[in-house]
Amino acid sequence: KVNRLFHPEDSIIDVAGIKVGGKENIVVIGGPCSVEGQEQITEIAKEVKAAGGVMLRGGAYKPRTSPYAFQGMGSEGIKCMVNARKATGLPIVSEIMSIDKIDEFVENVDLIQVGARNMQNFDLLKALGKINKPILLKRGLSNTIEEWLMSAEYIMAGGNENVILCERGIRTFEKYTRNTLDLSVVPIVKKKSHLPIIIDPSHATGDWELVESMSLAAIAAGADGLIIEVHNCPECAWSDGMQSLKPERFAEVIRKGRAIAQVI
Ligand code: PEP
Ligand code: MN
Repeated sequence: KVNRLFHPEDSIIDVAGIKVGGKENIVVIGGPCSVEGQEQITEIAKEVKAAGGVMLRGGAYKPRTSPYAFQGMGSEGIKCMVNARKATGLPIVSEIMSIDKIDEFVENVDLIQVGARNMQNFDLLKALGKINKPILLKRGLSNTIEEWLMSAEYIMAGGNENVILCERGIRTFEKYTRNTLDLSVVPIVKKKSHLPIIIDPSHATGDWELVESMSLAAIAAGADGLIIEVHNCPECAWSDGMQSLKPERFAEVIRKGRAIAQVI
């Protein structure tokens, strides 16, 4: 189902009225790594919207490397996201980590993110195949394009064909950046599949100073959109502050990105 051979035209995925894919506008999603409280997420949501972002991201269940690091606000965080959507009208994106939270996500979240670490959690993928909500499937830290597309196939095989792919950098020997952004996946995935693909330059680089150039390169490569970490106080962020853009810089990325999208 993922293969372009059996579906020649680009798929356009509808996320609460926002169209992702095809030759439409590029879709830029912004928001903090983690939801930290109602005031924080509502404030950032307003800034994301003012900058031209069309969806709000925010993690409530966080897959942290250390069990002692902040694990996310859980259900409280999802409620804060819902309120931020009420305040701005922006559809919300959040990461699911386990099957037992599916009802909560179906009820509240517009675009359900499967994080890199769960790309091959096949039971989770099968369960998400049975629901009727769009899925944002991130590429695993060390997974091939073939494996990634097969994970999309797991979701689609169950009947849910609303899958958006997201490249977020892969593990290489290079330590200077958090991950290595594999931009060649954009034309490769577009050749092999009809699904939309967006780029996460924040996790791909781990460094806010690299986010703008990688965002613009992603759009030039033909990506359908971007998901960028945005925080109104990156130095106070509870997670991933080093790679988060301030709202003004996020606005600048959108402005330049749209200009590039016009000419490709
Ligand atoms: C995230 O989006 O906050 C996240 C944890 O991303 P990834 O799964 O790509 O590491
Ligand atoms: Mn993050």
